[in-house]
Amino acid sequence: MNESAKNRQINEPACKGCSGSVRLSPGEIRKLFGETLRIKDVKTVTEEEYQQRLALCKSCDSLQYGTTCIHCGCIVEIRAKLAASRCPYPYAPKW
Ligand code: SF4
Repeated sequence: MNESAKNRQINEPACKGCSGSVRLSPGEIRKLFGETLRIKDVKTVTEEEYQQRLALCKSCDSLQYGTTCIHCGCIVEIRAKLAASRCPYPYAPKW
């Protein structure tokens, strides 16, 4: 583990499930996004729908760290791209 990663682990909250940092850099998100889209037969939404979903997430009070939905723990940039995904906002999904 490099020094930057160590400092991040010390100074930032950890995920309860995996003890990794709960904050992801844009590069880490891009990597996960690419890995997700390589899954065979994964169905995705159009770019227009993706941007609409992301805009709703970015203005949502349930978004934490600018990346993560507090209701499902998902990285919204990835969840919003998947056609089968729905917003988990209680009683009133936003997309
Ligand atoms: S509740 Fe819905 S709109 Fe809000 S951050 Fe989660 S997925 Fe996005």
